[in-house]
Amino acid sequence: EIGSGLWENGPGVWLETWKPPSVSGHKYGRGHAVVFSGGATTSGAARLSAMAALRSGAGLVTMASPPSAILVNACHLTAVMLKSIRAPNGGGGEDREESEGGCGVDALLKDERLNAFLLGPGFGVGERARTYVHAILDAGRQLVLDADGLTSFAEDPEDLFTVIRQGHVLSERVGEGEGDTVLTPHDGEFSRLFPRLADLPKLQRVREAALLSGAVVVLKGADTVIAAPDGRAVINSNGSPWLATAGTGDVLAGIICGLLAQRVPAFEAACMAVWLHGAAASSFGPGLIAEDLAGELPAVFRQLL
Ligand code: AMP
Ligand code: MG
Repeated sequence: EIGSGLWENGPGVWLETWKPPSVSGHKYGRGHAVVFSGGATTSGAARLSAMAALRSGAGLVTMASPPSAILVNACHLTAVMLKSIRAPNGGGGEDREESEGGCGVDALLKDERLNAFLLGPGFGVGERARTYVHAILDAGRQLVLDADGLTSFAEDPEDLFTVIRQGHVLSERVGEGEGDTVLTPHDGEFSRLFPRLADLPKLQRVREAALLSGAVVVLKGADTVIAAPDGRAVINSNGSPWLATAGTGDVLAGIICGLLAQRVPAFEAACMAVWLHGAAASSFGPGLIAEDLAGELPAVFRQLL
């Protein structure tokens, strides 16, 4: 502890909440993560996330993809399963070609084994993202909201915070800590969601954001700060400036989702993921690309066993 309720990130914060599989364990005991893909041209972001969720130890990972991106996703994924999800409201406008085939998001949510969701990387900003977020949280599921998923609520952040709090009520009824939400903004996404906190010092800004939203908030940057609504906060400093490259944030969001699927509690999952992400990057330097990170996770996990 380096201040009141403030810790430096490291295994002491979260290692006890992460359980390696038992000798007789099977994949269904390690959770089932779902990553939402955007359309074909931006679908690479979700593939980075899905691979990171799998490498983080989730038992199963499903990519929920619009019909238009099914083929490109299928060509680039092997152990990740694919499900075709049509646009809500019968489509319309740009969504027209997505409104046929596949199942609706509500049908996806009927499978209760799907326990951790990630929406945002390359997803597209707009009504569809908001509809899916409402459906996921109304179903009492854990959600990592990143990138376009966050920006989709920029015009009405209160709508997001309300549905997050309703998700909490639901999750208490479920009694398994499910329903916890993690928001993973960079500076730009943060100021769109929390414009009134702009003038506060960084630590206080993240704490206030967690309180306001009812979510675990991860403010990414050179020194990432993670805060929970109950006041706990962690500063992470094992990052590498070589992480400042396209797609690394999508990998981080996928790691958090993979840990949530394994039932690591939301705050610890966020802290552990940020640390794993930084440790994975530390094996690289110039030339690091987002694709390198997930493949480095097995070596990072071995240091923890
Ligand atoms: P995003 O902005 O969503 O692509 O996420 C970028 C990722 O890289 C986040 O995990 C950041 O914390 C990390 N990152 C970006 N710049 C730096 C830096 N200068 N030092 C350490 N980590 C960084
Ligand atoms: Mg990002």
